[in-house]
Amino acid sequence: MSTPPLRRRHDPTGIDSAPTGPARNDPAGTDPAGSGSATADSIGTAAARADSVGSQAHGIGRARAGSAEKGPIEAGAAQSYPAGIDSMEADTDERFRARLREFLAERHPGRRPRDPAERLSWQKDWLATLFDAGYAGPSWPVEYGGMGLSFARQVIYHEEYARARVPRPLGTGLGIAAPTIIIHGTAEQKQRYLRPMLRGDMVWAQGYSEPEAGSDLPSLRTTARRAGGGADDPDAEYVVNGQKVWTSAGDIADILFTLVRTGPPGSRQDGISYLLIDAHAPGVSIRPLVDLTGEAQFCEVFLDNVRVPVTNRIGEENGGWPLVRTSLGHERAAGAMNQAALYRRILDELIELARDRGATTDPLVRDRLADFEIRVRIMRLTGARTITDILATGEPGPASSTARLFIATFEQDLHEFALDLLGPYGTLDRNDPHAIQRGRWTWGFLRTRASTIGTGTAEIQRNTIAEQVLGLPRDPAMPARTS
Ligand SMILES: Cc1cc2nc3c(=O)[nH]c(=O)nc-3n(C[C@H](O)[C@H](O)[C@H](O)COP(=O)(O)OP(=O)(O)OC[C@H]3O[C@@H](n4cnc5c(N)ncnc54)[C@H](O)[C@@H]3O)c2cc1C
Repeated sequence: MSTPPLRRRHDPTGIDSAPTGPARNDPAGTDPAGSGSATADSIGTAAARADSVGSQAHGIGRARAGSAEKGPIEAGAAQSYPAGIDSMEADTDERFRARLREFLAERHPGRRPRDPAERLSWQKDWLATLFDAGYAGPSWPVEYGGMGLSFARQVIYHEEYARARVPRPLGTGLGIAAPTIIIHGTAEQKQRYLRPMLRGDMVWAQGYSEPEAGSDLPSLRTTARRAGGGADDPDAEYVVNGQKVWTSAGDIADILFTLVRTGPPGSRQDGISYLLIDAHAPGVSIRPLVDLTGEAQFCEVFLDNVRVPVTNRIGEENGGWPLVRTSLGHERAAGAMNQAALYRRILDELIELARDRGATTDPLVRDRLADFEIRVRIMRLTGARTITDILATGEPGPASSTARLFIATFEQDLHEFALDLLGPYGTLDRNDPHAIQRGRWTWGFLRTRASTIGTGTAEIQRNTIAEQVLGLPRDPAMPARTS
């Protein structure tokens, strides 16, 4: 099998097909217009609460001057992003909903371009529009360019975003790296990274998994060794060597947020650091990997003597593991509410499909649809619970595994049912002129096979729920937890 060219650009927007491509936190990619992860940013930290909406008053549509010129990691610090949050505190929830709906309809970027490069800039333009108007990052603290919305308004935001079928953010940074930086980063790191990430000026991709380290992340082997410079030397660097794999959006990434081994071999979680690597740095090679859908949604990443400033480390050296916990918890939580809103719409579309095919008089079909209806409502409640937890404690906690597992199995069941409904047409992909709805359900069926793997496998989620939520005994096959 021939190897795809380095950094081949696939449909980076993930809007090429319906359902769409994956953020790591949306492995199903069941988002026809990419509405999912835009909102996959359930940060809601104490800072967000402190800075909740209304603490600044600027009109929607007010331009943020000095907006971003994309550049390497270090360029972020120099960029200026004046705050532009709307004074929404006077709105009722319904007025807020109406204004958001109107904004999303009026500024909708239209049909996605076919050409991948054009599509990428089309999506970046949209993210910038959203940010500049003060409509990005519903749960992000206002001081980092987010909206700092209350719980009720976050729910409204997710519902309207899913409804509007507008593009979602690029990469996987918003829901995973951002909360980690907000909680564990220095003031300078927050200043440098957060706004360009939210505005889409820098695309972030997650480099945790390795060929021999997925569920068991503490066994990772990518090393980062200090090159010269003492502990206080601001110019000190790490030299990074190793390989990452399954890096969603790696081919369009500007920054890789990675886990690397800074401790001795075998130090497991006690020797891991959290490091941000410039994806364009010398020594970084990124190859797309083709998945079941025939598309390349994730990549393998080779790191060959890559020099990384020590100042790109988040948290302490060898102290990355607690950050991983934050990161993974938010990753699982991030999809909860926007996926619930998204699947509300997709289920309505499935019911419509069943009607069109005259299947809704079949009691077995009605039974299945009722089951999905119940589950999509539970999903909404679970999403709400997750947001409430984050708002209350700053962390989503292990219950985020419940939400993730529930969504993963739901979306697989839903697409299996859709294919049953389509009968032989379910085998046709979008290139076939007879394909129904451009093969979206078939694509979704193939894509959601990965749902019980990405973001931690279903077995790992079940272990987490058993041990950390239900208090059952630990899996004896797993090594004792040291932190
Ligand atoms: C669509 C998709 C997107 C992804 N995006 C990213 C990304 O952007 N960045 C990134 O770093 N990674 C990404 N991943 C990788 C993902 O996190 C890993 O695939 C996942 O953690 C599982 O690791 P693994 O593939 O090495 O499988 P393994 O860990 O080798 O697991 C193999 C099997 O063994 C089971 N298993 C392992 N340990 C246990 C246990 N203790 N108890 C019970 N069963 C167990 C697993 O459940 C699984 O069935 C992505 C994966 C997918 C599918």
